[in-house]
Amino acid sequence: MSLEKVSKEGTWFIEFNTPFSYHVRGIRRVLYSGVTKYQRVAIVEFEDLGKALVLDGKIQSSLYDEFVYHESLVHPAMITHPNPRRVLILGGGEGATAREVLKHRSVEKVIMVDIDDEVVRLVKEYLPEMSQGVFDNPRFKLILQDGRKFLEESGDKYDVIILDLTDPLEGGPSYLLYTIEFYSIVRDRLSDDGIMVTQATSTSYSLRTFATIYRTVASVFPITRAYQVYMHSYDSTWGFVIGSKKYDPAILTPDEVNNRIRERISGELKFYEGDIHRAIFVLPKHIRAVLSDE
Ligand code: SAM
Repeated sequence: MSLEKVSKEGTWFIEFNTPFSYHVRGIRRVLYSGVTKYQRVAIVEFEDLGKALVLDGKIQSSLYDEFVYHESLVHPAMITHPNPRRVLILGGGEGATAREVLKHRSVEKVIMVDIDDEVVRLVKEYLPEMSQGVFDNPRFKLILQDGRKFLEESGDKYDVIILDLTDPLEGGPSYLLYTIEFYSIVRDRLSDDGIMVTQATSTSYSLRTFATIYRTVASVFPITRAYQVYMHSYDSTWGFVIGSKKYDPAILTPDEVNNRIRERISGELKFYEGDIHRAIFVLPKHIRAVLSDE
């Protein structure tokens, strides 16, 4: 699906969205390019986005708007839960997802399980702006293991589980973490009022994949909600799906969200607030039609 043209001599990076469309970005410099046991990794400074992490030819996040992605992934689920104390992140290599989770004063422990120790090492070295010291936070624990294997083997329960994984490409390391079987394990590892959220790819160039993730989560959880934000780094609207056992994120009013932010969050939010919470759950008609299309 995707092709990477990153070289020290090259000027342009080409990211394929589909086999028939791509976007192109100007490269200022390549800080690192290599192959780990699991994936191709590049840390690139783009002319427009600044520094970014690229895995298997796909931009994961950039300094330009990583806060939009990470605040959108973390806070709607965390704010919907009344008192999230134990949080599990699967994936999340950059450390920025953990950074947002730790802004919640109620959190006693956040465990992040990423399959690729090399990605975590490179991000610490070349992109420390993203994790902002979370790897040394006493409430944070890093486990380097396959996320699915970790959940299968551990009986621990969590209030919130956040899936910040690479896209589900056949043969890629995260492919088996987008299945009914996997979401059933996630459900079983959540407390009785627990919530999960997953990134769910583009709602424009991979709308069918987004809808498949939504329907897969909906077949396992009693409450399922989808939302999207615009991400310049992906040149696309980006989807997320929440599966919840008890609380519905879509019924919170902007005032309720703002009150919870005031009472529960320490530190600055640059994107997420009450009006944004309300707005992102409002999906256009054509997307709702695809979500309900059996
Ligand atoms: N923001 C990204 C996006 O949607 O474009 C995803 C963020 S993050 C960099 C993805 C992480 O998922 C990577 O660090 C990768 O190593 C990790 N990952 C992929 N498959 C995994 C698995 N099976 N278990 C745990 N982590 C996994």
